[in-house]
Amino acid sequence: MERSRIGPLVRDGVLVLPPTAAEGPAPRSWIEALEALAAAHVDGLRRVLALDGGTDPVWYAALDAFGALLASRGLPAMRLREAPTRSEAGRALCDLFDEAARVEARRRPFQAADSAPEAPPALAALQAVNAARPDALFAAVPVIDPALCTGCDACLRVCPGDVLILIKDGDGAEAYDCHPAACDACGLCGEVCAASAIELATMAKGVGSIGLRSWVCDGCGARVHMPEAAGHGHGLCPVCRQGGHHKKLFQVLP
Ligand code: SF4
Ligand code: SF4
Repeated sequence: MERSRIGPLVRDGVLVLPPTAAEGPAPRSWIEALEALAAAHVDGLRRVLALDGGTDPVWYAALDAFGALLASRGLPAMRLREAPTRSEAGRALCDLFDEAARVEARRRPFQAADSAPEAPPALAALQAVNAARPDALFAAVPVIDPALCTGCDACLRVCPGDVLILIKDGDGAEAYDCHPAACDACGLCGEVCAASAIELATMAKGVGSIGLRSWVCDGCGARVHMPEAAGHGHGLCPVCRQGGHHKKLFQVLP
């Protein structure tokens, strides 16, 4: 028997969601539960048993989201059965298995695992499958508002998964590109955005790239870029435009 880092037990090819904190810590967020479900799916598990009807609601939210995510990629679904009481767990297990496995499934008692190995970062791997389908959903998608974005690149630099990247085409035109399959919803991009220009959408379709306009600031001489929709800043970079630093700079220059 194995146990992921957030608690669900794996027994005889069934993911058993823990009903109480004593039997397995609850996930801190639905994305963490989603990660555990994805790890199980990548390992080939297709059956889920929820015990005692007391399974943390986060698991159900994650199961709903995961079902939508699998469907949007044409991947095999996971079958869920609920056991309102422990005595009904055997029957629910039998519902999950075919006839040949029923007797074996009834024999073995539930048992907590001793160790808690790390779950693999499976969600991104699974999301990458068929991600190009037009109807593909992603667990989390960072969405930049081009009208608010100042082009500071802070979200790109802080993102641990290279979800947001700066691209440049053959003519030198720049754009922000988004690869949500690798997003783990850590929220860092939103935290560092001083312009409040970025939000995380959940269970959403991917977003297209945002074209940038680049220029050399008339005030400080720095090369900057900004979404087309945000305007050109009258030739100044956001720092010079807001703080008027360039005027002071000219005062001290010979
Ligand atoms: S939520 Fe985290 S992983 Fe996702 S885009 Fe933002 S910083 Fe990157
Ligand atoms: S979304 Fe925010 S953090 Fe990212 S480049 Fe735009 S202003 Fe900077």
